[in-house]
Amino acid sequence: MDTWWWQAFSDLMMPLDCAGCGERGARLCRRCLAEMGGAVVRPVRPCPAPAGLPAVRAAVPYQGAARALLLEHKERGALWLARVLGGVLAAVVSAVSASPGPRHALRTERLLLVPVPSAPRAVRSRGHDPVRRMASCAAAELRRAGVPARAAPLLTQRRRVSDQSGLDAEGRTANLAGALRVVPGGGAVLGQGRVVLVDDLMTTGATLAEAARAVRKGWEEDNWNRGPGLTEGRSDGYPTDFRGSRGAWLPRAAVVASSPSSFEMNWN
Ligand SMILES: [Zn+2]
Repeated sequence: MDTWWWQAFSDLMMPLDCAGCGERGARLCRRCLAEMGGAVVRPVRPCPAPAGLPAVRAAVPYQGAARALLLEHKERGALWLARVLGGVLAAVVSAVSASPGPRHALRTERLLLVPVPSAPRAVRSRGHDPVRRMASCAAAELRRAGVPARAAPLLTQRRRVSDQSGLDAEGRTANLAGALRVVPGGGAVLGQGRVVLVDDLMTTGATLAEAARAVRKGWEEDNWNRGPGLTEGRSDGYPTDFRGSRGAWLPRAAVVASSPSSFEMNWN
């Protein structure tokens, strides 16, 4: 018997459990859907924050239904959730790109959603790349809303990194230093729109800090090849001026979920 047929038959005949809370009835209950869809996007920052962490926004604390849904999608292959989570990520990306900052006047420029890459062996064992898939869904959602956006998987791991779980913030930063790079030819693409780093989850921020470093380096290398124009960066990591540059690549970051404590920062 074909497995797809059996799956379809099972979906019709078997009562489903909500992937968020386990309640019988639907694969995603109204309450969990409302919790994800109704989330208010907020700035988040871990404490301590690693050096070079870009401005990050998130939709939900990593707990309860949000945690369950992200795990179902990432580790248990619930690929149908990519669209739900991608929709949430799209809302975060919208908030990131609308927030004031350098080049904020350029509302109509193209958004490049650069997913944080998974380790190749994790992609193999999971059978999919959850963040890349989520980025594609988020870009599609943004385009449906009239925002020019596309997923730009331009980052890759340049060396093997240890499993992050079990490492503290300092250990994670050391483990990840220099671990990511822009794919060959990616530097030029980074200049074609406004870069938003995307990930499913931020815990210590070490991965996003490394991703931001790699993106900046990739962009700078491409820019140096095309002549001077880059000026000194500000204390917040954003260069103040990009005379001669061809696009607003300034990395900011959007994640679906973040550790509950990272929401508690005082934003005076
Ligand atoms: Zn539920």
